[in-house]
Amino acid sequence: MDYGVEDIRESFKFLKCALELLNASNLSFFKKEAMLNVLRNESKLRLNFQANMCDTEVFEADGVKSFNRPISCFDKFSKPKSNVEDIDTWFEYECLSVSDMVVAIIHYYMVYGFKVIPCKHCGRVFATQSLKTVYCNRISPYKNDFSQKKSRPEPCKDTVKREIQFLRKKKDRLLDRIRNSSDVMRGYTEDVYDKLRQECSQYMDLVIKAPTPENFEKFNYYLECVAQKKEWKR
Ligand SMILES: [Zn+2]
Repeated sequence: MDYGVEDIRESFKFLKCALELLNASNLSFFKKEAMLNVLRNESKLRLNFQANMCDTEVFEADGVKSFNRPISCFDKFSKPKSNVEDIDTWFEYECLSVSDMVVAIIHYYMVYGFKVIPCKHCGRVFATQSLKTVYCNRISPYKNDFSQKKSRPEPCKDTVKREIQFLRKKKDRLLDRIRNSSDVMRGYTEDVYDKLRQECSQYMDLVIKAPTPENFEKFNYYLECVAQKKEWKR
């Protein structure tokens, strides 16, 4: 395989721009195809890969329908004629260089309508066919150092659900403790209690809107500080 440094650099430059085009929701397939071809010509990617469309239905003797010519020859990203919703249809790519692999990935994403977006929790990019999917399938990098129980590594979606439950319980328990403290009961530090309650609800909104490891840590740290400072007690 050809691993020229320039080739790799150009390929990643192409990938970055191509992903933006791919995610543009206001462009038709054909417009995207045309723009990607322009982009590819501009970056002068040397391509030599072949995309074979395969089907479980036998088109030819070996059951593989081939485009016959390498994709660089007919110079197109080529949407297949058959129904791509059909799960029995897939592509096989033959790649000879890094550029080929990059363009093959873009080709696949485009034909099957994948978008490449950052995960709402960990921020790493992933490909999805539906923008309703906001979390990737990877294991979350978040470790809750504030919990007594050691949490086992889980995918982003499960981690977010578990952590928000954890924070809500922790916040409710702390606010209960403060409300039942004698000073608050006697009305001396009611304003302090109200302020803490407001801050907690702001943090709760933050971790629901942006459930990132950083925000989980911020909220945990805040709750620990409030619990230790005991400013509601005079
Ligand atoms: Zn993630």
